[in-house]
Amino acid sequence: MNLVITGGSVMTPDGPEPADIAVAGGRIAAVAPPGALPPADAGAEVCDASGLWLLPGAVDAHTHFGMPLKGGIRSLGWRKSSEAALLGGTTTVIDFANPDRGESLTAAVDRWKTAATGRCLCDYALHCTVSEAVPDRLTEIPALVAAGIPTFKGFLAYKGRLMLTPDEMRALMHAVRQASGMLLVHAEDGEMNAQAEQVLVNTGRTTANWHPAAHPPESEVSAVKRTLELARETRCPVTIVHMSLAESLAALREARTAATAAVYGEVCLHHLAADDSLYRMDQDRALAAVCSPPLRGTADTAALLAGLIAGDLDWLATDHCEFPLELKRTAAHGGFTKVPNGCGGVGERLTLLHDLAVASGAMTPWRWQETCCQKPAEIMGLTGRKGRLQPGYDADIVGFDPRREFRWRPLGASDGDGNLYRGRRVRGQVVRVWKGGRTAVADGRVVTGEPGSFLPRRLDGK
Ligand SMILES: [Zn+2]
Repeated sequence: MNLVITGGSVMTPDGPEPADIAVAGGRIAAVAPPGALPPADAGAEVCDASGLWLLPGAVDAHTHFGMPLKGGIRSLGWRKSSEAALLGGTTTVIDFANPDRGESLTAAVDRWKTAATGRCLCDYALHCTVSEAVPDRLTEIPALVAAGIPTFKGFLAYKGRLMLTPDEMRALMHAVRQASGMLLVHAEDGEMNAQAEQVLVNTGRTTANWHPAAHPPESEVSAVKRTLELARETRCPVTIVHMSLAESLAALREARTAATAAVYGEVCLHHLAADDSLYRMDQDRALAAVCSPPLRGTADTAALLAGLIAGDLDWLATDHCEFPLELKRTAAHGGFTKVPNGCGGVGERLTLLHDLAVASGAMTPWRWQETCCQKPAEIMGLTGRKGRLQPGYDADIVGFDPRREFRWRPLGASDGDGNLYRGRRVRGQVVRVWKGGRTAVADGRVVTGEPGSFLPRRLDGK
């Protein structure tokens, strides 16, 4: 035993329960009622977590820390993004490796791993995007599954870049299913979006305020329905990522009652905690909110939150892809179609969901930790290592003070101007984070420079 955390409470289905946690060799050794642990070894660090809730290190199943775009445009990158993650209680992320045109999936995965190595302070796993559903790429899938990358992503959106036709999507689903993997789908109709965008451009409506008009709700709903039909036809396990509309959720709910294969629904923080009023504010606010699918109205955000509470949506992710606002401002000279899509959120997820739903009593603390920690870990193949405070699991532990109230400030090196949540009064704060049994965050600062490791995953839970 080299660390004992006393005085805190762990989450249970019946509510927070006082418990002490013992850590040895970077793993959880025991979780026991107060005072019931065997005496700590001489030299063990004893940490007082009185008044804190203790959660498993949060798992964000959808990030883009490693995202380079064309023309030298980059997101904040591995180091800064992972610092924000740790400060917000997220110790594990699953990032998307995106092959260039003509590049093999394996080469893209290697490129992503090389970029993350030594820079990412969280442990990380990878999904792999497939934007060319050609035989050369599809035949690579089984080897990637065997190498611990069992989840792939296909786009029905982004015509001319990443979009797959329905036939290509079907072929990809067949290949992923045969390899016992899972497909994640960005469900917006690229043709419908391209048409809407063309009309806006032709009529000179090119400021960022018009961005959501290029992503009409019917585009998402029709792509969600098509995805669900293809999943049923191919029996491929599917996750629809970043669902943003009540109507999409209704289609998912219906499909789940009839499903022959697993279908999961993901919601991202900005689709719960922010809404489309940002596009009607000043240009900076509108630019910060340029992401796809766009922010939606409050009837949708409310329906999605209710769906997450009820279990119709499986986990909360962020789609974290933060660009400095200055970069978006420069790109916007060419119109909103040139602005890189994405916003931050990896540091905000735990606190903001607590503030939105747990502090008000709408969501139990147990469901909160399920949606941010346990479910993404289990469904994405990290059972046994991440997502629970149980003996044998990695000692990634978050100390959270549910009573603390403060005004939100962007974390770490995050770009203050581009933050969607700055200045908001929030309830609940991450005050301490341990990763692998060592202190990673204390007093609001990252105190580790120790890089995270690559996590191979298996969807069969072994
Ligand atoms: Zn994404």
